[in-house]
Amino acid sequence: MKKGIAASKGYAIGKVVLKLHEEVIIEEKNITNLDEEKARFSKSLELSKEQILKIKEKTEREMGADKAEVFESHMMLLDDPEFVGAIESNIEMNMVNSEKAVSEVSEMYLGIFESMDDEYMRERAADVKDVANRIIANLLGKSTSGAQVFENNTIVVAHDLTPSDTAELDKEKVIAFLTNIGGRTSHSAIMARSLEIPAVVGMGDITSSVKNGDTVIVDGVEGVVIINPDEETIQKYEYKQLQYKKEKEELKKLVSVKTVTKAGKKVEVAGNIGTPEEVHKVLENGGEAVGLFRTEFLYMDREQMPTEEEQFEAYKYAAEKMEGRAVVIRTLDIGGDKKLEYLPMPEEMNPFLGYRAIRLCLDRKDIFKVQLRALLRASAFGNLKIMFPMISSLEEFFAAKEVLKECMDELRAEGKNFNEKLEVGIMVEIPAAAVMADEFAKHVDFFSIGTNDLIQYTLAADRMNEKVSYLYNPMHPAVLRLIKMTIEAAHKEGKWCGMCGEMAGDEAAIETLLEYGLDEFSMSASSILKAKQIIMNS
Ligand code: PEP
Ligand code: MG
Repeated sequence: MKKGIAASKGYAIGKVVLKLHEEVIIEEKNITNLDEEKARFSKSLELSKEQILKIKEKTEREMGADKAEVFESHMMLLDDPEFVGAIESNIEMNMVNSEKAVSEVSEMYLGIFESMDDEYMRERAADVKDVANRIIANLLGKSTSGAQVFENNTIVVAHDLTPSDTAELDKEKVIAFLTNIGGRTSHSAIMARSLEIPAVVGMGDITSSVKNGDTVIVDGVEGVVIINPDEETIQKYEYKQLQYKKEKEELKKLVSVKTVTKAGKKVEVAGNIGTPEEVHKVLENGGEAVGLFRTEFLYMDREQMPTEEEQFEAYKYAAEKMEGRAVVIRTLDIGGDKKLEYLPMPEEMNPFLGYRAIRLCLDRKDIFKVQLRALLRASAFGNLKIMFPMISSLEEFFAAKEVLKECMDELRAEGKNFNEKLEVGIMVEIPAAAVMADEFAKHVDFFSIGTNDLIQYTLAADRMNEKVSYLYNPMHPAVLRLIKMTIEAAHKEGKWCGMCGEMAGDEAAIETLLEYGLDEFSMSASSILKAKQIIMNS
């Protein structure tokens, strides 16, 4: 038995197909005809573009437009004058073959991306590697677009799966995959979840522990893989697989059912999203609202701030598609560990206690106002609510409200519509806000408890540090007391209280939260149906 990171839920029993990238040895050759070499390089770029376009179209058809976006980045890289120009200069300056130049320039890019602390930027390294391999394969005349033929019940085992590899897998035949590297947010993990096939990643050396044709059991719930299991184990997992399938089918019945407890209390089960398109996943999974729209994703993966118009379109889209259901939009929570390339910020000793979220927004009103204006304008198109993150004092909340008022005045003067009665709430994710919840409740329209941060600040246990993860306990009595206090304070003033941290979807915590009177539970779309079931049985 081997353990890794459970990246996508479910069980699979099948036969191993190792997908190992052929080690390409790149020989350095001196060239004599520069024009000829440049033309050769240019031809390989064109060929690569054609192939990527085809893969992009296939991915769009099979997995949806959002999953095909990664190939958009690949296309952009092939058109990037800096990347392409660096390769051309390398060919010219060193009078070497294109393969050598592509390999050298991409290694340089990889070095920069891989050394970054940010997981997102490390993923960009995977894109560079994918594109460089494709150009080199085309230069060497080795096509990479021929999709491999798979037998039924194939479990693909690879060092890592690039987005191109994943897109080329035969979805009918491949029932799970395992990789040596990667984490829950790597491309391959995200793809597995959207394909709804189990995957275990970050397994270390799975490629050398199995061979082609081995039977393996993939347990995507526990992140466990069993190699060449005995008959008894196979039967045990076949049973688990059956139960899992049955449960999923059973849960589907709850998609359009309103969530009401046995005692008759109506509770809202909502979804957390990072992009406007994710509202569809929330709706498909029976979500009754969006309890948290993490807007920072709109600011990432680009070269400058999103404009008011771009943001307006994004918020309007979410509001309209939710058709009158609530959409709680959290204002920018950037800084600390989440950085923007185009907004240089000094290194900090304690990024989680640093210059971030509302602190940054109140300091940079120019940035804050663009977002608030876009949000207000979008509020004319649906049931939007605004929520400020990382609030630690009443003064901060008043200051944020003041900026909001300024934006309202501007829009009124410009004759632009917005919802004058728009609800404005705060995230309760700093212990100070929970302790002072009775005071806050007099001024806010709602609370949403952000347990991801509330737990780490209450217990002084970094949410990213595995070494102290044993301390990071949602059910610690101190955390529970703060939650209870916050909910009671809201109710005393006739306000509602939700929760958008991971704890809201934690099967072991839901009953306690219901007892405390939590009104709204917001979680990742894939957890919604299970949560609905638990609440309806409570
Ligand atoms: C939280 O802190 O609980 C939360 C929902 O916000 P994030 O995970 O984005 O910090
Ligand atoms: Mg938070």
